Amino acid sequence: MRPPASRWAGLSLIAALVATGCQGTSTEPGGPIRVVTTTTVFADMIANVGGDLVHVTSLVPRNGDVHTYAAKPSDVQAVADAQLLVMNGLGLDDWLTRTIGNASAAGTPLVKLAVDLRGVTLLPGEEPGTQNPHLFMDVAYAELYVDRIEAALERVDPPHAEGYRQQATAYRNRLAALDAEVRARVATIPRQNRRLVTFHDAFPYYAREYGLTIVGVAVEAPGQDPSAGDTARLIDAIKAAHVKAIFSEAQFPPRLVDQLASATGVTVVADLYDDALGDDPVTSYEAVIRWDTDQLVKALR
Ligand SMILES: [Zn+2]
Repeated sequence: MRPPASRWAGLSLIAALVATGCQGTSTEPGGPIRVVTTTTVFADMIANVGGDLVHVTSLVPRNGDVHTYAAKPSDVQAVADAQLLVMNGLGLDDWLTRTIGNASAAGTPLVKLAVDLRGVTLLPGEEPGTQNPHLFMDVAYAELYVDRIEAALERVDPPHAEGYRQQATAYRNRLAALDAEVRARVATIPRQNRRLVTFHDAFPYYAREYGLTIVGVAVEAPGQDPSAGDTARLIDAIKAAHVKAIFSEAQFPPRLVDQLASATGVTVVADLYDDALGDDPVTSYEAVIRWDTDQLVKALR
């Protein structure tokens, strides 16, 4: 049940970093800052910036689907106890704003990592007038997420600002190296092979930055099956583009991708990760990007 829009209008105005002076929970002296976020990917980024200074909780578990997640009563409690809330926005995890309402945590600082981010060029989402929310799959954009996480932690916990600054700088340096590594690895794929089909539309920023073309996606909106017409159009596109591989994603059922594979003769070669971390070795954001790049290079080269 969704409450009337007017009740939530105020929440939608909570843009990034409106945090100043409105912490809802008192800080335990010396204790880590309690940060709650939506996905394990952002939890990993926050842990890299915060280190021992933070205790991070991801509401969506590893291998979970953030798009279709339904918050549990324990999530409401975690949000109520949080000193900082971090989400992506742009439709990826907007259910968090309802959880915040249910937790009466509207005064807790909330950071929307992808909203009003300077220096990015957004790509369109599935619905007219929306934007694709998966900015973090472009590593250079992930560095901008790190800037924002750093600023939020410094604001919530000023005595440790220097610690956050140092850890964020070290992490950004690693991400810059990762960005260069991905670029170099994708460059080893013959140009005519740099085309792919993915399960849901999580890769357009990655593809744009690293020089790949997304021929199609199996599911426009996670949680919804495509229409017969959508599937037929995608099958035609796959055949016409001579893609070498269709990539399924670990957190989604493989049924639809298998259907595309059998209709086109193209093999499903690998599981990609995007919105959620997985099992070893895909247990960090950096590992997700490395893993996906490995799968793409192996399959397309
Ligand atoms: Zn997604």
